Amino acid sequence: MINEYVSRKVALKDMQPCAICSKPSTTVLYNASGPDWLYTCDIHLQDNLQFTIPIYSKEYNDAVAQLKVVKRKMDTLISAQSRLGSWDGWVTKIFTKKDKEKKDGSESTEPAPAEPADVPLEVKEDADTLLETQAMYRKLLDEVTELQGKNRKYELAKIMFESRVQRKKTEQMNRERYRKEQENYSNTDPKELLQKHVFPSVPQQETQ
Ligand SMILES: [Zn+2]
Repeated sequence: MINEYVSRKVALKDMQPCAICSKPSTTVLYNASGPDWLYTCDIHLQDNLQFTIPIYSKEYNDAVAQLKVVKRKMDTLISAQSRLGSWDGWVTKIFTKKDKEKKDGSESTEPAPAEPADVPLEVKEDADTLLETQAMYRKLLDEVTELQGKNRKYELAKIMFESRVQRKKTEQMNRERYRKEQENYSNTDPKELLQKHVFPSVPQQETQ
């Protein structure tokens, strides 16, 4: 059995106790490769890595990667803008100094501050680029949030999954025993046998 569960909704009449807190729930995590399933409240599926880890779509991962690129660009532009701020400060200082020199008519002994070499003049034009980048960042962030909300695929936390696998094995052993009993005691009333072995039935997805 592979560790891949999809969250599904069942009808209200089919709700069963949550595997975590035992409250009745209409959400079931279904694993077709088992098949295996367990009921859970929706709340346990959110930020609860000790229980489930979301398996996101390629679309989601691509959007996150793009978001990182845009974030880096945004940070670079922001730091360039703040350098421009200090460059502006440098210009102001020069003018203030010239004014002072005119007034007392003497050369200042204070050396002129060095012009920061790494501030390109096109940084000002980058202010517009920064606004565009920030808008793109917000748009991507919304997209990532939406795709995150849409996710239905989960992986169970390791210990949790191992206990499901163990449970599955026990269930299979029981089925096997049931089959053998049927063979050995073909005269036994099938109803009686069924009462001895109650097998869970696969949850039906709610029809909408
Ligand atoms: Zn619960």
